[in-house]
Amino acid sequence: MAKTDQNTRQTAAKSAPDVINESPRNTPVVQTCDVCVLGGSCTGVFAAVRAAQMGATVALVEKQNAFGGMATSALVNVWHKLESNRGKAQIIGGLTQLVIERLKKIDAVSICGEHGFILNTDELKIELDRLVVENRITPYLHTFYAAAQMEGSSVKAVFIENKNGRQAIRAKVIVDATGDGDLAKDAGLPFQIRNGLQPPSTCAEISGLPPSINGLISKHRAEFSLAPDQGWGAPVPGAPGVTMCAYTHVFDTVASNATQLTAAEIEGRRQVRAYMDIARKYGGKDNKPCLRDVASSIGIRETRSFQANYTLTGKDVLSCRRFSNAIANGTYHIDIHDPDTGKFKFKEPEGDFYQIPLSTMVSDRARNIVLAGRMISADRSAFGAIRVMVNLNQVGEAAGTAAALAAADDKPVSEVDAASVRNHLAKLGAVII
Ligand SMILES: Cc1cc2nc3c(=O)[nH]c(=O)nc-3n(C[C@H](O)[C@H](O)[C@H](O)COP(=O)(O)OP(=O)(O)OC[C@H]3O[C@@H](n4cnc5c(N)ncnc54)[C@H](O)[C@@H]3O)c2cc1C
Repeated sequence: MAKTDQNTRQTAAKSAPDVINESPRNTPVVQTCDVCVLGGSCTGVFAAVRAAQMGATVALVEKQNAFGGMATSALVNVWHKLESNRGKAQIIGGLTQLVIERLKKIDAVSICGEHGFILNTDELKIELDRLVVENRITPYLHTFYAAAQMEGSSVKAVFIENKNGRQAIRAKVIVDATGDGDLAKDAGLPFQIRNGLQPPSTCAEISGLPPSINGLISKHRAEFSLAPDQGWGAPVPGAPGVTMCAYTHVFDTVASNATQLTAAEIEGRRQVRAYMDIARKYGGKDNKPCLRDVASSIGIRETRSFQANYTLTGKDVLSCRRFSNAIANGTYHIDIHDPDTGKFKFKEPEGDFYQIPLSTMVSDRARNIVLAGRMISADRSAFGAIRVMVNLNQVGEAAGTAAALAAADDKPVSEVDAASVRNHLAKLGAVII
């Protein structure tokens, strides 16, 4: 054998991935239902609730121990306002409003000036449990969506894993509310991971911080190995002296990559310790910082962005474009956290409010998948605006409604009549314009 051939073979042998061929197995079907929602953030729970209210049988799969997604597991506690910018008309209602009203009754929400609401997100967890139980949704907590069985462009079943092992759920329609679009990726829907992703942050609830903490962090960051950065904090309703802190970012992270996500969790918690140490050393003797809670999951802003039948653009948002198939209204500005410096860059919509059309959530390439959450089809600028929860809550409600209609009529989700979705949402209490 020629030496070069031998070298090539040796190199190939060395670089061949180490794999194990698993034996084929029979996987028990744990449930057959009309709609299965993967991911139980507010988006996912609201999708499940609306599907159930439309008469569908619904399964809801969540990998954490509680519902709420970023709002609960990452401690993100601000919901923006429900009124339009100029006319001050109510443009958001539905389940967002219902949850706010329920939380108000137990003093678990405070009004944050013009901006919106600050929530006690532990109380939110319990409120979301209540919604799931009241609407007879079958919940699967501590349960990971692992894979899909496809037939052409249809998902026949999803495989889930939990303490009971690997099981399958058969559903007519699947709502992918995993944030990352884990099912949509497996189903082959086109997506991109943009250059300059908005970086994630680890949030924490801390008491006894000095009021000057932001200034202290920028002054002493180098001593504690923190990069130049920008962050924010918010009070926690009903917990005087406790701040929800989002002061840092973990740069250079693609959070849909498991290795990078692991490293980011550890780095994010290190950053929290670093600014606690700054507060201990430089915060003055009257302040005794105490770490009350560190987020059980790093706060993820952006990963995969999918291509659906329509891609919402920054121009649509800034010009406050109206869509005949609109299912959500929003006012939150374009807010992009710089991938290198963490600095927030804002652009204000030049009108009363913008809209999100149903076509950003469905694709002709996927017969029975509805996208719901931050992965819907939007360019970088539009994403910067639509990514907040009051917007995605409405996307969830529309996803559940559209999924239930597609399941009932046995038709592709992209052929569901947007007017019908809008009518049903309006009847269910959403503000449809
Ligand atoms: C630090 C930070 C601050 C922010 N500040 C604000 C703010 O002030 N106000 C605001 O409105 N928005 C804010 N945002 C943005 C907002 O929180 C998110 O864009 C929004 O919550 C995304 O919602 P989602 O439903 O798409 O995803 P997520 O909330 O991430 O929900 C996805 C859900 O799916 C589950 N999941 C994922 N993969 C799987 C799987 N394979 N199997 C089972 N379950 C799975 C997750 O556990 C999670 O519950 C902030 C974000 C961050 C990170």
